Amino acid sequence: MKIYLDSIGCRLNQAEIERIARQFRAAGHEIVGEANVADLAVVNTCTVTSQAAADSRKVLRRAKRAGVDEIVATGCWVTMEPEKAAELSNKVVLNAAKETLVPDLLNLSPATFDLEPLERVPLPGLRSRTRAFIKVQDGCDNACTFCITTVARGSGYSRPIKDILADIQSALDGGTQEIVLTGVHLGSWESPHLPYRASPPEGGRTSPFPPRGAKRFLFQKARMGALIRTILNETSTPRLRLSSLEPWELEPDLFELWRDPRMMRHLHLPLQSGSDTVLRRMRRNTSRAAFRDLVAAARDVMPDVAITTDVIAGFPGETEAEFAETLDYVQEIGFADGHIFTYSPRPGTPASRMKEQVEKAIRKERNAALRAVFAEMGEAYRQKFIGETMPVLWESNQSMSDAGWTMQGLTGNYLRVRATASEPRWNQVDQVKLLKAEGDVMVGEIIK
Ligand code: SF4
Repeated sequence: MKIYLDSIGCRLNQAEIERIARQFRAAGHEIVGEANVADLAVVNTCTVTSQAAADSRKVLRRAKRAGVDEIVATGCWVTMEPEKAAELSNKVVLNAAKETLVPDLLNLSPATFDLEPLERVPLPGLRSRTRAFIKVQDGCDNACTFCITTVARGSGYSRPIKDILADIQSALDGGTQEIVLTGVHLGSWESPHLPYRASPPEGGRTSPFPPRGAKRFLFQKARMGALIRTILNETSTPRLRLSSLEPWELEPDLFELWRDPRMMRHLHLPLQSGSDTVLRRMRRNTSRAAFRDLVAAARDVMPDVAITTDVIAGFPGETEAEFAETLDYVQEIGFADGHIFTYSPRPGTPASRMKEQVEKAIRKERNAALRAVFAEMGEAYRQKFIGETMPVLWESNQSMSDAGWTMQGLTGNYLRVRATASEPRWNQVDQVKLLKAEGDVMVGEIIK
């Protein structure tokens, strides 16, 4: 069959659709870039905001208009509104059944895909990403009052380390230069199997296993630190990045791992609000003080680390004074960049039932004010790196002109860089001297 795949929303959705692609290929089917040539389409939907839900419906309708015979709808929007999804598709697969979507669809035993996974091939079309998103965890046991994801994806679940390593190896076999670990509550990943050790002996190899005779620390569940150590030790991953990391329950010495040059110096830590009273109404497991300490701990190890974040503008009950606190706090922290969301009431969340909903116009005003502050901070962060030479992974060959090929790519600390080259450099890593900032892109020259 010719199969068209699409996903809306987070990197976890992207990681899942990539795994679905690999399974269909392993079963001998072809992944195509356009719906109008497909026999089957699978759409992984999102509902984190009302806009994301609308985008999900749009993609399903587009597949229908393109004439695809069989449309399979899955993901968070589908899980929250299965009846509506059934109207826009031939088959509805809720999140709980997504893990076995392909074997169920093809009437194969899930074990069929336990064999050595095929090497990763970037999805055709617009999404020929160089970076591979690897799902390590799903669901969440927190209950932030605005969050629909925890409702749509259910309780927390950590994937076994052998499956994670297999997915990473498949990506590396496919030529991937950068692995991005992703999950709903990534930092909560844990495994019962590996004994946990704080950090390696002086000059020793990082290893999840203590050397013979060493005083064995209490058997503790292996956590994110042990997972990262295992990936750095047991794979040849050139660049390892973490996607969004909730700013709590992180091991105290986790950031020591970023002394390894293969660790990308970028931490996305969702703050959501800079006001303690709002954070309490959001039921966020953090505070201004705790978040400040966490950022300080990261900067102790990596002074120039890119700290990016998510902030919600206009959460129910947010007063002018609370919003002013948020504006001050984000500037105190000095973020490199951020996603600003206008609060969007999601049916099924406690916040959507809160009385003091903020007027839409005020929510939008506050969103604009936050974006202005983040634009300034982003500019200030980029300016710090002018004149520096940094490794850049090229993600796209844009066009051929007299000057040569124009490339775009990312540094380890998530600076977007543009440069020209005499030949296409897609999926290559080059040392680049950063010459100037043009808007939110750095212009550089490749150092031979
Ligand atoms: S930590 Fe909060 S915001 Fe994040 S997925 Fe869990 S409930 Fe949602």
